[in-house]
Amino acid sequence: MDAKSGYRPSAIWRSLVAGKEVLKKGLRHSIGNGRTTGVWTDPLVPSKVPKVLPRPNHIETENEKVHELLAEDGTGWDEGELAARFEEEQGEDRWIWEMDSKGAYYVKTGYRCVMAEFWRQCDLGLDIDDGATMRFWKRLWKLPITSKYKVFMWRSCLGIIPAIEALEHRGMNINEQCGMCNNEPEGVFHALVDCPDLQILWVMAKYDYSSRVYHANILEWLAVEEVEWSDEQLASLAVAIYLVWERRNKKKFASEVIHAEELSQRVERVMDELQTVTFTEDRSKSEPISFEWEKPEYPYTKLNIDAPVQSVCTVRKRPTAAGSYGH
Ligand SMILES: [Zn+2]
Repeated sequence: MDAKSGYRPSAIWRSLVAGKEVLKKGLRHSIGNGRTTGVWTDPLVPSKVPKVLPRPNHIETENEKVHELLAEDGTGWDEGELAARFEEEQGEDRWIWEMDSKGAYYVKTGYRCVMAEFWRQCDLGLDIDDGATMRFWKRLWKLPITSKYKVFMWRSCLGIIPAIEALEHRGMNINEQCGMCNNEPEGVFHALVDCPDLQILWVMAKYDYSSRVYHANILEWLAVEEVEWSDEQLASLAVAIYLVWERRNKKKFASEVIHAEELSQRVERVMDELQTVTFTEDRSKSEPISFEWEKPEYPYTKLNIDAPVQSVCTVRKRPTAAGSYGH
């Protein structure tokens, strides 16, 4: 049950591993002689979701087996042993949070409980293992681009973009096709990469993004293919999908149409600006040669400002010397 999918698993193995997750959801230990079932480590109480009993504070060993609580003839519970598993001071009934071993609710465990299902869905059926995903995340966060592009790429990888299909998965009945091609459902991969309306962007791009056709999920595409790419190629893609989504929203919410051909020029412009920022450490080496006043070109007007720094300092110093700010 603990087998992992590994790197580039076969389709059959991947299906088996995915099926395992579904199986686990309905799996519970059925007690026979009680020798292999842990009292505090295995799900043994019938319930909708398999759950492990919370261990009371005074029971120190985690590895108790069920047979230790059974009568010698194995036909029922040893009531003395059973009673010893209750807290000495039982107190009153109270609400507890099932997902925590001590029954306490924390925002963190609550969040993880809600997200667990979602994270599992993210990984199901993808042709990647956890190691490749981790390598990709690390590389993404180190890219020398503004964090808004990195965060957007991260969200796209996890499918946390309010594309129509993603919203419908969360129970909203929208019933619309992709607004750009009006021909296919708008999933995250479709909206950001695969939409026929976008293909000119990838063809005109400075780098080769043709490997997109072998994948149907952004995280899978990147985690598998990025090893072949330079940082600049990866950064350029992050900028591109950010602008693609911005363009989609401008059309959807403001009826503003931007042609896909224009997008690749925008990507290049943003990349040029980012590179200027990235290389600013070297700016001291290339100071302007002349400080002489130059007449600006039409239609620009030049505003010359001079600030009397020295006199401001003098004014502020004077009250200090007099020991008073009162006038
Ligand atoms: Zn489309």
